Parts: sequence; C-alpha cells; structure tokens
Amino acid sequence: MDTVTILSHVKKKEAWIHDTLRELVQQESPSEDRPAVNAAMALLERLAREQGARVKRHRQREFGDVLELRFGPPRSSRKPVLLLGHLDTVWPIGTLSEMPWREADHRYWGPGVLDMKAGVVIALAALNTLRELKLARPVTLLLNSEEEVGSPISRAITERLALESAAVLVLEPAQGLAYKTARKGVGHYDVQVTGVSAHSGVDFERGHSAILELAKLIQTISGFTNLARKLTVNCGVIAGGTRSNVVASSAHCEVDVRIAKASDAAYVEKLFRSLKVSDPQCKLTITGGINRPPMERKAGTIALFKKARSLAAALGFDLEEAATGGGSDGNFTAALGVPTLDGMGAVGEGAHAAHESVVIEHLVPRTALLAAMIASIE
Ligand SMILES: [Zn+2]
Repeated sequence: MDTVTILSHVKKKEAWIHDTLRELVQQESPSEDRPAVNAAMALLERLAREQGARVKRHRQREFGDVLELRFGPPRSSRKPVLLLGHLDTVWPIGTLSEMPWREADHRYWGPGVLDMKAGVVIALAALNTLRELKLARPVTLLLNSEEEVGSPISRAITERLALESAAVLVLEPAQGLAYKTARKGVGHYDVQVTGVSAHSGVDFERGHSAILELAKLIQTISGFTNLARKLTVNCGVIAGGTRSNVVASSAHCEVDVRIAKASDAAYVEKLFRSLKVSDPQCKLTITGGINRPPMERKAGTIALFKKARSLAAALGFDLEEAATGGGSDGNFTAALGVPTLDGMGAVGEGAHAAHESVVIEHLVPRTALLAAMIASIE
C-alpha cells in the first residue's frame, strides 16, 4: 500500500473538500425537515454520480430519503466495504443566521459541519482518490436521514447491507484524535404514573398523588445505575400535576439508559418491568426499551483498528482508540458481528453545540487514512 502516493493525491483535493463542505453545510438539514434533508441528499446524489456511483434512493414519507451509493467495480470477488454516514443534523432551519459557515482559527465552523457533514465529504474525497489511483474496490456508501432521532427507518437497510459487507467504517467524528472501538448501547423509557386528583384543601384524603409516587420511583430507578458495570440510568425529564392546590392525578418521567454489555439489555428490561407503585390507588405504565445495542470491543474491530494504526503511522501520525457513551449506526452493525470501526470522520469539537467546528489540518490525513483503509481491507 503506497500511502505516500495516496496522501499526495488527497492534498490536491483540499480546495474541493472546502468548497463541497461549505455547500453541504449551507444546505441546512434537520432530521424533522424532510424537504431540507432531501435537498442535501440531492446534492450528494449529484456528486456521487459525477464519480460514477450507482445510485439507489430508498424513498421515505416521514423522513428524508435514504441514499445507497455503490462505488468501484460492479463485478468483483471482494465483498464491499460499507461506509455509514448521515446527512441530518440536530440544528433547526435558520441556525445558519446565528452560526454561519465561517473559516477562522484554522477551523471550519457551522451547523452539522463536524456531525457529520465533513465525514461525508471526506468519504467522497477518499473514494475519488481510490478511483483516480486505480485502487477502487466495491464500496457501499449509505447515507441516512434520521440518525439523530435513532435511525428508525434506516436501521433495517443498514443491517442488511452490513451483513453482505467485509467491514463497516463509520464516518462519525473522531473522539479527540482517536477512532472509536466501543460505544455504549442506548435505551429510553417513559415512566407514567396515574393517581387520583382531589382538592388539596377540601378533600385531601381522597387524593392519591401521582407526583409523590413518581418521586419514590425516581429514587428506585436512579439506583439502577451501576458505574462499575458502566450502566447509567438518568431521569432527565419530569412533568406532572396542574396546580399547587390539586393533588396530582398524573406525572411522568423520561429516562435515558446506557449499557456497555449486550447482556445488560435484558437485565435493565427486567429491572424496569419489576417496578411497582407503593400506593395501590396509583397506576404505573412503562413504555420503551433498549433501542441501540452496545458496540463491544471485539476481535474484528480490534483487527480493523490495528490496521488503521499502522496505516496512520505510515502516513506520519499516531492513532489512538477510545470508547464513548454515545451511540451511532455502528452499534447496529457491530451487534451483528460485522467488524466495525467508528470515528473515521473529521477531527473537531462541539457536536450538537454552538462551537461545532472542524480542524482543517486533519482533513487531508484523515481522508488519506480512510482511503488506505478501504483499499487494504480484504
Ligand atoms: Zn452523527
């Protein structure tokens, strides 16, 4: 693998990376806005066609379309490498007026620039490099439209494509400078208590407070956290009651759960299903569950990381690995046993935050590393 040739070839694409990333960031694309996400998809479809990609558009009603782009020789004995990206962001339309695209302090700034529009642009630049250097192999680039809301419609497509692929490379941002070899699984529960309302002055005794009952349950639920087990349970939203002089007839709580081991999904589920109210006049309803399995640090992922580290060394930089509590589409593919390496997108700071930005100097080396990885996976 001639990493030096790849690197010098990618360097010639710096202006293209800049122009394309600016155009993509300036097309706002919040998950909830189907036409806006589809406009970003149309831009990517055009760029992919320019590179000779075969395009399949999975049309959607509720969210933007999902784009399946096939690169490289259509007939090959090698299995494809699956690249996972998303074009939706957490930023509502109009964010650009307060957080415009700009270049300052050796960075590119703007909504979605790090998470993960730069990752998608890096992937296109890497694929174009491989094509020009005649190193192309079968690659599927899957771009979904609803990752930031849990990938409800694209999950099945992602899983199907992963199962036919040699490996999965995820274009999410790096963790600092590191690639991600483990991610926690993610769950969400809604805990709803229904009590009996009453006038707090006139007939207090007739009331059964949903708020009091929920408060007790929150103590129990928060106690499910087990830091040694890397299991966290966060009651992040509570609501209930109507007025201070009414015994509350309803209250609810939204809970975020993170697990490090796949087997903890059943364990957590059992804990939630075993919850009981202490006041028999109150009723408890629990909905939700674990919706992303954890990406555990397994042999296939470790082998991919070792390959990436040695290619990075040949390109002249050190590559570390890291674990994160956040989930991605890589959770789904890793859980199927397909070797998955994550964090292969841009280096920067402030995903989902006002200081979202990408460090420019890392764009070329990360593109070269992605290209070298794609070419070297058997
Ligand atoms: Zn992301």
